[in-house]
Amino acid sequence: MQTWDVVTDFISIGSGGGGMVGALAARAHGLDSMVLEKREVIGGSTAKSGGVMWIPNNPLMGPAGVHDSYEDAMAYFDDVVGDVGPASSYERRHAFVTHGPQMVSFLQQEGVRFVRCEGWSDYYPDAKGGCVRGRSIEGRLWNGKVLGPWLDKVQHGNMWDRTHLAAYAGEIATLQNQDRSLRNRLIAARARARTKLALRRGRLPVTTGWSFIGQMLFRAIQRDIPAWTDSPLRDLVVEGDRVAGVVVEREGRDVRVRARKGVLFAAGGFAHNLEMRTKYLDPMAVTDYSMANPGDTGEVIELAIRCGAAIDLIDEAVWTPTSVVDGTPLGDWNRQRPGTIIVAADGQRFCNEANSYVEVVKAMLDRNRVTRAVPSWLIFDDGFRRRNVAPGIIPAQSSAGSAMYQAENLDDLAELCDIDPEGLRAQVDRFNQNARVGRDPEFGKGENAYNRYLGDPKVKPNNCLAPIEAPPFYAAPLYPGDVGTCGGILTDEHARVLNTAGEVMEGLYATGNCTASVMGRKYLGAGASIANSSVFGYVAARHASGAGEPQQG
Ligand SMILES: Cc1cc2nc3c(=O)[nH]c(=O)nc-3n(C[C@H](O)[C@H](O)[C@H](O)COP(=O)(O)OP(=O)(O)OC[C@H]3O[C@@H](n4cnc5c(N)ncnc54)[C@H](O)[C@@H]3O)c2cc1C
Repeated sequence: MQTWDVVTDFISIGSGGGGMVGALAARAHGLDSMVLEKREVIGGSTAKSGGVMWIPNNPLMGPAGVHDSYEDAMAYFDDVVGDVGPASSYERRHAFVTHGPQMVSFLQQEGVRFVRCEGWSDYYPDAKGGCVRGRSIEGRLWNGKVLGPWLDKVQHGNMWDRTHLAAYAGEIATLQNQDRSLRNRLIAARARARTKLALRRGRLPVTTGWSFIGQMLFRAIQRDIPAWTDSPLRDLVVEGDRVAGVVVEREGRDVRVRARKGVLFAAGGFAHNLEMRTKYLDPMAVTDYSMANPGDTGEVIELAIRCGAAIDLIDEAVWTPTSVVDGTPLGDWNRQRPGTIIVAADGQRFCNEANSYVEVVKAMLDRNRVTRAVPSWLIFDDGFRRRNVAPGIIPAQSSAGSAMYQAENLDDLAELCDIDPEGLRAQVDRFNQNARVGRDPEFGKGENAYNRYLGDPKVKPNNCLAPIEAPPFYAAPLYPGDVGTCGGILTDEHARVLNTAGEVMEGLYATGNCTASVMGRKYLGAGASIANSSVFGYVAARHASGAGEPQQG
């Protein structure tokens, strides 16, 4: 006979997107729910992040005149993801595409407000079913102060910590090019004005993932959903064939919490677990280059494996090319822009620099198996450096004295960075000849809508291409960074955990970065990760509550 300290229906382990959506949805479907978070703050990488979610056919698209459909979304999955096994089975894609829009509507009913990321194209816009105006949304500007004492218990957003600007993630491309058109100037001015106005009114203007998590936490408090911080999961309690509850550490002692309807693992990946990284990931991609929250340590995946769960796609991460400035890893936003290329130590390019961050790092790691490509080098000239007014990017790197090399000619630059000088000279010559006429026959930089979204609006005919020709020349090292790992526990279309025999582990659900993603080995659009986590958190809660299938939207 088990003894319990606390009894509830549905427990979310982890307070990122999946855990919070799961707890809210469970409560709305009539269950008692709670959130257990091991860190001192709520929100995980989701709160730290841009907070963008890639939700096909979402309810904000129609009113904005953006066409989408279930069929297009499924065609896009088929064309881009292809067959990668059970994590992205037809049933799981169907669940994601049908529940995604319903989850957004549900959150809106709960008071969570979103805006569209207009123009943030799908990352494979030319694939069947691709959407050029984009399927991504993010949390709307929100006053964090309404959280009262809970405000200090929320993980800060990265954007705010770095810029103190209440900008939307969907404005980053514009802010990068803020001096490049009147429209961009106005958008940048609007971001500064909204920040100032809110602060003057005594508000805390919260955007990005901080807004998404803050809004959900606010609702959870209103709905009396307990959210325990400093409460790491230690073990599962199994009764017969069913997960019946958890053991959690709280204030130095073990607390046994019963979950009558289900336990949801939403505990993120293992980006900061060196042992797991060594076992599962490319050895060149080390912990130091990860921007994931410090709680991303993988012990919940290890617990699931010990309990018999199957795993898949565990070598995957949400990769992003990363600069390290004063010891801090930062995502690079310059490679898409005109006048930059990325080369390996042989001086040669190896990818379309303006493709998705995940694709670029995968290409870097692949290339590194042939020739030294870690670090790779972002090469640019003085014209590019001067055009770069965006704070915190290139000028800050040089002023912070971080590793950025400068030389009067390409040969000297190559020598400084241990790059093959002939290779670099030949590559830059070749690139320049084509860039002058707006072409990139080698890799097609600037030739799709996603590339162009991040380019410089003033540069024509190809807004991602300009020759690299005005000395001095520069090289900045780029590393295979990540914002989290995204493979692990295998789940079915109801987010139920499967064991190594392919059977359902009753009472146990999982979502997000501790699972093998429905996106397979591709990153389909901005927000593919938080979408995967949040949608399957919603799916799990509905299933645990016995709710039926949603109508196809
Ligand atoms: C700077 C940055 C920008 C990003 N921008 C985007 C973006 O715009 N869109 C997007 O889709 N992705 C983005 N990402 C990636 C994205 O944030 C993550 O992949 C995603 O949030 C993972 O969600 P999750 O719910 O799986 O985990 P998380 O949000 O990380 O939540 C997991 C939580 O579980 C907790 N936990 C771990 N172990 C335990 C335990 N034993 N007991 C209890 N709790 C535990 C963790 O502390 C953590 O709080 C970004 C990431 C970063 C760092």
